[in-house]
This record gives sequence, C-alpha cells and structure tokens, in this order.
Amino acid sequence: MSILVLGSGQLARMMALAGYPIGISVQAVDVADNKIVDPVSKQIINNSLDRMIEEVNAITVEFEHIPEDLLELVHASGKLKPSVEAILTGADRVREKKLLEKLAIANCPFEIVTDVEQLDSAVEKLGEKLIIKASRDGYDGYGQWRLQSKNDLPELKQQLSKLDLQKVPLVVEKMLNFDRELSLVAVRSSKGDIAYYPLAENLHHHGQLHVSIAPAPNVDPKLNQQAQDIFNKLAESLDYVGVLAVEFFQMGEQLLVNEIAPRVHNSGHWTMQGADTCQFENHLRAVRGLPLGSTKVTSPTAMINIIGCKAFVRDMLSIPGCHLHWYGKTPRKKRKMGHFNLCAENYAELGKVMQALVEYVPAENFPMLKDEAARLMKL
Ligand code: ADP
Ligand code: MG
Repeated sequence: MSILVLGSGQLARMMALAGYPIGISVQAVDVADNKIVDPVSKQIINNSLDRMIEEVNAITVEFEHIPEDLLELVHASGKLKPSVEAILTGADRVREKKLLEKLAIANCPFEIVTDVEQLDSAVEKLGEKLIIKASRDGYDGYGQWRLQSKNDLPELKQQLSKLDLQKVPLVVEKMLNFDRELSLVAVRSSKGDIAYYPLAENLHHHGQLHVSIAPAPNVDPKLNQQAQDIFNKLAESLDYVGVLAVEFFQMGEQLLVNEIAPRVHNSGHWTMQGADTCQFENHLRAVRGLPLGSTKVTSPTAMINIIGCKAFVRDMLSIPGCHLHWYGKTPRKKRKMGHFNLCAENYAELGKVMQALVEYVPAENFPMLKDEAARLMKL
C-alpha cells in the first residue's frame, strides 16, 4: 500500500514513520520542483510524478498552499483526499470565512479588504485594534500585521499598498481578547465515521504555536460538544476524508472558529505519545479507506515546539516521560526544528516534567515553559 503526500516537510515525515508499522509506504512530492522524495531520508526517488500518481493508492497533502497546477493534476487522478475543495478552503481565508458564514458557525468579526483605503471603514466597524491577514500563503503568523492604534494606520496603509490586494485580498479581523486558544483535531473516514481527539489548549508566541496541552484542562462537556458539532458541520459539508483541525478562540462559554487546517496539525503532535492511535496513522487510515484507530488518551501530554534552535545536547532524554522528535532540518529563525512530547500521570506531574525540561533547553527559544510548568503544577 502506498500513499503520496504533496509536501515533503516534517508532517510528511511523521506520516511516513506512522505508516511503516501498518505496511503503508509514504512518498512525498517536493512542491518546489515536483521531484519525488523519501520524506524521512530526503533522498530523491527516481520516479516521475505522473508515474507515481498512477502507482499509489491515495494522494494527500501535508499543507494547504499547493501550487494550483499540481493540485489540479492530482485532483484529476481521483485519488486526492481530502478533496480539492477542502484544501482550497483551508488555503484561502476568504473562502474559509464564506464557508463559516454559510454554515452559520461563529467566528471572529471581520472585513474583506481589496484596497488599502477600505482599512478606514474596517477600523470604524471593528475598532482600532486589528489583526490583518493575507488571505493566502500565510502560516505561523507570517503574512499578518497588527494594528494597535488608529495613529499607526497611515504607516500600515503605506506598507500594505505594496501588495496586490485585488489578487490576494486581506481578511481584517478584530483583535479579540479571548480567554484561551483551543483546537480540535479529529478524523473522518471515507464511510463518514468520525473519531475525535480531545480539545488541546494552545499557547502561541508572536503568532506561532509553542505549546499544546492535551487534553485541555478544565473543559466543560458542553464546550467539547460545541467543538464537535462545529467539526461535524464542517467535515460533512466538505465531505471530508482524513484529519481536519479546527482552531478556536474561547470567549467565556462560546467558541469562535479562528481557522481550519485540512491536514494533520501541529496541535495534534501530542497524539504520538498521548493517544492510542496518533493523528498521522489515523490520517493514513482514513485516506486509504481503512477503519479508524482509537483516539483514546493514554496520558496527559504537553507538546513543545523546538523553534529556531540548533541541534542541542540530548541529556533531557534522561527525564522520565520526555520524548524528542527531531526533524533533521537546517536551522533558521522561527523554523520548527522538532518537538518534545512530555507525558505524565496527571497535570501536576506533567508540570514537574516540564520544569525539569526547563533546565536543559535554551530559555530564549522556549519563552513560555517556566510559567506553563508552574501553571500545570497548580492544576
Ligand atoms: P496562522 O495561519 O499563522 O496560524 P492564525 O490566523 O491562526 O494564522 O493566527 C496565528 C495566531 O495569531 C493565532 O493562533 C492567535 O494567537 C493570533 N490571532 C489570530 N487572529 C487573532 C484575532 N482575531 N485576535 C487575537 N489574536 C489572533
Ligand atoms: Mg493558526
């Protein structure tokens, strides 16, 4: 059995590693040059894209920003899962907002801007504190601008006037003062069965995910139901197959959708140690038409991204419950180099494991760990 993944980064790599034990071989396409690569060794495989498309059982994506011609080509094969519509929706914030509106799913108040002059009326409608997002090709906080005060509007307009907003409009959102960020990662099979992981609580720094705690502490069953109902609406309307992640802002007892990701998701990496079947295996099972695996939690888990670090000594592996996933990438500022999954019996113990990790890692790359460890120890 073989599956082709568009994109050859760490998500394709983790799919390949998860596929190995169940006899699913995963190859990847480097979307920069359409070469086929082994997603673990990164070696180029001597096979053409066309032949590969013909040979594999299913095709999927590790990210949504796939060049249009490539997406069309694989769509035409009939093997692409999730569907091209789902991928395009995740890749375009305007499409995403339209779908949320169509399905009457609560989300952040927004305006679509196709000319910088429209920013004035956006400020009138939404207030002066705004997050401005390029509708396409943004990730990890890239392609975003923040407006803190009306006084900074002229300068921001000047900066944004360099962009072609007719081609790539902006989605301008009210900057929300939410209680916390949560995400739901769940998987839908080709038969329409759905298996949900519990909500994860996500901590961001400069627009980038740093830490996920799963299951999220203090989740009211009603909140969980709200998240699952939203997932069902989205997944059913897109006739979705595979793992889909929905990012939320929690405001009191209400969840507002921030964005959706039609793929395995960083806030689901904890499942590699903390759940019966990880998100990568479940995604492969779904796109290959196999039964889904149990999403039961095996222990509370903290996922900690390793961002912008060079390789470091691995003495932290002496900490019981500390698991390292190193992606083998060349270091760059803000680049995700790997992650830790920390597991423990309960949140207080998890806090202790996290506190132990603080001693081993450079504080500048892990700015949230110390406080988060203290918070967990009090839960
Ligand atoms: P990305 O595709 O980069 O993940 P997001 O839209 O999820 O883009 O934004 C990244 C992060 O920025 C969010 O996880 C959140 O922390 C913050 N953010 C985004 N939109 C808003 C908003 N409207 N109000 C407050 N914070 C926001
Ligand atoms: Mg996001």
